[in-house]
Amino acid sequence: MSHAPDPARQPGTLHVVATPIGNLGDLSPRAQETLRDVAAICAEDTRHTRRLLAHFGIEAELVALHEHNEQQQAGRLVERLQAGESLALVSDAGTPLVSDPGFRLVRAAREAGIRVSPVPGPSALVAALSVAGLPSDRFVFEGFLPAKAGGRRERLQQLAGEPRTLIFYESSHRIAETLEDMAQAFGPHRHAALARELTKLFETVLDGPLSALAERVRKDPDQRKGEFVLVVEGAGEDGEAVLAQGRRVYGLLAAHLPPSKAARLAADLTGAPRKALYGGEDGQ
Ligand code: SAM
Repeated sequence: MSHAPDPARQPGTLHVVATPIGNLGDLSPRAQETLRDVAAICAEDTRHTRRLLAHFGIEAELVALHEHNEQQQAGRLVERLQAGESLALVSDAGTPLVSDPGFRLVRAAREAGIRVSPVPGPSALVAALSVAGLPSDRFVFEGFLPAKAGGRRERLQQLAGEPRTLIFYESSHRIAETLEDMAQAFGPHRHAALARELTKLFETVLDGPLSALAERVRKDPDQRKGEFVLVVEGAGEDGEAVLAQGRRVYGLLAAHLPPSKAARLAADLTGAPRKALYGGEDGQ
C-alpha cells in the first residue's frame, strides 16, 4: 500500500486511547469503537494489545511503537495520517504517554498539523489519587524513581520539602526499599497511601505513616506483589518544609564535612533545628 500524501484527501486523526489497568470492563464503549474504526493501532507491545483486542472481537493492523523505535516510526506514521488514515495509539495499560511511550509521535503529528484527539480512560495515577484520601487539589506526579538506591535517595531528598501531594509509580522489586527510603527522607510520620493491583483481584489500598507502611510491607510478602502507586502527603507548609530542607542540605554537606559541622551549617542555612538533623531522623 502506498502512503504518499494525497492532496485531495483530508488528513486522518490520531486517537490517543486509554486502555484498562487491570479490569477489562474499563475499556469504554467509545474506546472500543475507536479501536474498531481506525486503519491501524500503534501499540507498545503488539502481543499484549492483540490479546486485549481479541477479548473484544476487534481485528486490526498493529504497529509496534515503543521507546526504542518511536523516533523512526513517527515519521512513517505521520505520513499515513497525512494520507488520510486515522490511527490509534495505545500503551500496555492505562493512558499512553503517562510513564509510557507516545509523546514523540504526538508531537510529530501536532507539528504536521494532524488532529490529535484523546479517548480518556483509566490511569493508575488518577485511580490511586482518587482513593488515597490525601489532598488532591494540587499534586505532582513523579513517575518512577531512579532504580539505584543512591539516585533514589537523592531524588527523595530533593522532594522532601514539596508541599503538594506526591505520586510515584513503583515496581514490586523495589517497593519495600522505597518505603524505607521515603520514611528516612520525608520523616517516619508523613502520611501515605499504597495502592496495589488497582481494579484487579488483589486490589489493596493501605494507608498510614510511612514507617508503618514500610513495616507492613517488609513483614508481609503478599504486600510486595503486583503493581503499585504510592501517594504521599506533601510537606506541611511551615515546620515540616523547613525540616525537610534542613535534611536535604545536611545530606549534601555531610558528604564533605564531619556530621556535627554539617548539621550546624545546615541548621544555620535553613533554620531547621540542629538536633533534628544530626543523630537520626528525630534527632535521637
Ligand atoms: N500508562 C499507565 C497509566 O496510565 O497508569 C502507566 C504505565 S507505567 C509503565 C506502569 C506502572 O503503573 C506500574 O509499574 C505501576 O506502578 C502503575 N500501575 C499500572 N497499573 C496498575 C494497577 N492496576 N495498580 C497499581 N499500579 C498500577
